[in-house]
Amino acid sequence: MGVGISCYGWIRRVPFAACVLLFFFGIASIANSFAQNTFVGDIKSAPTVVVRAGRLFEPATGRMLERPVIVIVGNKINAVSNGNPPSISGATLIDLGDATLLPGFIDVHTHLTFDAGSGGYESLGVSTPRAALIGAKNARLTLLAGFTTVRNVGAEGYADVALRDAINAGDVIGPRMQVSGPPLGITGGHCDNSLLPFEFHHSAEGVADGPEAVMHRVREVIKYGADVVKFCASGGVFSKGDNPLLEQYSPEEMKVLIEESHRLGRKVATHAHSAISIKDAVRAGVDSIEHGIFLDDEGIALMKGHHTFLVPTSYPLFWFEEHASEMHLPPWVMEKSAVIIPAAKKNMAKAFRAGVRVALGTDAGVYPHGQNGGEFWSMVELGLTPTQALQSGTVNAAELMGWSDRIGAIREGMFADMVAVKGDPLSDIRLLQHVQFVMKDGVVYSNEISGANSAAQAR
Ligand SMILES: [Zn+2]
Repeated sequence: MGVGISCYGWIRRVPFAACVLLFFFGIASIANSFAQNTFVGDIKSAPTVVVRAGRLFEPATGRMLERPVIVIVGNKINAVSNGNPPSISGATLIDLGDATLLPGFIDVHTHLTFDAGSGGYESLGVSTPRAALIGAKNARLTLLAGFTTVRNVGAEGYADVALRDAINAGDVIGPRMQVSGPPLGITGGHCDNSLLPFEFHHSAEGVADGPEAVMHRVREVIKYGADVVKFCASGGVFSKGDNPLLEQYSPEEMKVLIEESHRLGRKVATHAHSAISIKDAVRAGVDSIEHGIFLDDEGIALMKGHHTFLVPTSYPLFWFEEHASEMHLPPWVMEKSAVIIPAAKKNMAKAFRAGVRVALGTDAGVYPHGQNGGEFWSMVELGLTPTQALQSGTVNAAELMGWSDRIGAIREGMFADMVAVKGDPLSDIRLLQHVQFVMKDGVVYSNEISGANSAAQAR
């Protein structure tokens, strides 16, 4: 935020009082940035922690800061400098030696409330309360894998809303979350449930056909707690009886869905495999294309023109090649995967080369939770540089979630969310699949480096 900010240009979009506040916070942050080693906040009343390490990855520049020192007061980063740690009475020092410190990772496409292998007919026996408890287990695994923030895209019964609220209340441990509740979709589409025959008259909760029904459903999921709206623009792999190569929602329905979500302050993520569904969703203003399997040249140009994020979910492509035969998956999943996997690898590589903006998403839940870090090396296999892969899982993902002001970088004023690995992940990206230190909100959940007790161990 610059000194020369004027509130006049902002009045139409934000209340004037908010603008004035932003102006003064801007001045405060500039003053603070000039005052190296000056600590803001009430150090006396909030616990103060000083973390030192060998290197710090800075996502904005892609560079490493040598010998970083981070001062944390409460749940926020108070100061970042390098060299010798300041002496602050009562502060706890965490010395991570020559490890590399990185911002807590962000995964914008998870399914915490279900487990790999419980799709298909197994899923019909899982109640909403059971799904929420499965989510609590997986939230813990995800946090310990270094993912301090996730966006959960699709949960029946609002099990994800319950999980988010339980984490925020401190009842269970897990990443900070944005959640979608039930994903919107057409009757018989990827976001419906077509496993039961007609006489059961069963539809998934997010089913809505036609612009009016879609508008109502958007308002409903927001009413019951959705931070983000998810919908299915095309068929998918795990759904019975639909086709990933076809479009499901019409352009008119997508337009209403996205406009209404935006009007109510929610971003929109869409599951889109077919080329036509990707392009229609981008034209309608969607914020992110999830998967994007059959993305073509025209789609790439449209995404670049609209600054739409691609969430490539690459790791499952590699994981399935090795493990699908152990999963006892329904035959329709195996048939669709055989077409999808080679197409996805080819088209993701093309999108990366073309410079489409990428946010990291893993689809965790279609394979076992806690392996989310595999997405980094998978994207590098398909052509991103290690630096770009790290940016996709930090600053880019934060931007897609609308949280650039609080997560995705280690700097003053941000939440104290950070991870560390021994070694240099820019030389060996696979290091990121096993982090050795995890802090969220200033609380240490895992520390295999300096051996201190952590909150996760205590539980
Ligand atoms: Zn998914």
